[in-house]
Amino acid sequence: MEVRVSDVKKWVGREEATEIQEAWPEVASARVGYPLTDPAVVHVLVRNTGGGRLVVEVKGVLEAEAVCTRCAEPFHLSLPFEATEEFREEAGPSDENLDYGRYTGDKINLDVMVADAAGASVPIAVLCHPDCLGLCPVCGTNRNVTSCDCAVAVDERWAPLADLTWPDDTDHAKN
Ligand SMILES: [Zn+2]
Ligand SMILES: [Zn+2]
Repeated sequence: MEVRVSDVKKWVGREEATEIQEAWPEVASARVGYPLTDPAVVHVLVRNTGGGRLVVEVKGVLEAEAVCTRCAEPFHLSLPFEATEEFREEAGPSDENLDYGRYTGDKINLDVMVADAAGASVPIAVLCHPDCLGLCPVCGTNRNVTSCDCAVAVDERWAPLADLTWPDDTDHAKN
């Protein structure tokens, strides 16, 4: 994914907005790949802030496919993202030790910037729904879809805990 900067880089203070659409195979996060269901649509704003510096803002939503980590069902995952990065016209490859990106010529490649931003918006818990009920540990039934008659296995070692009351709580309630 590349944005043309041939005009914007000529004048300090100039700003250019564009929209880029591109088919991407997937977004990755924590070594898991999420295939995209739609082409990536990215709004790009490039600002020439002087001194050969271009500030690039990207914003969009990637539509991906994921598998719920609780019930194992596939579901649609929207990944909104937003990022801002400064680029300087300098020779040499991008360097992780620099707090800006490098470009040469008339285009800036946005692949890494967009992939990082969208990857960072993948939630820590990838769930089809925040209240997903998951699978029955006994029969494997998807409890979002149907219920089963499996007895909830109670670990006898913890059973006495069920009878405990918490006197502290009642005290707090009174005060
Ligand atoms: Zn689920
Ligand atoms: Zn069951």
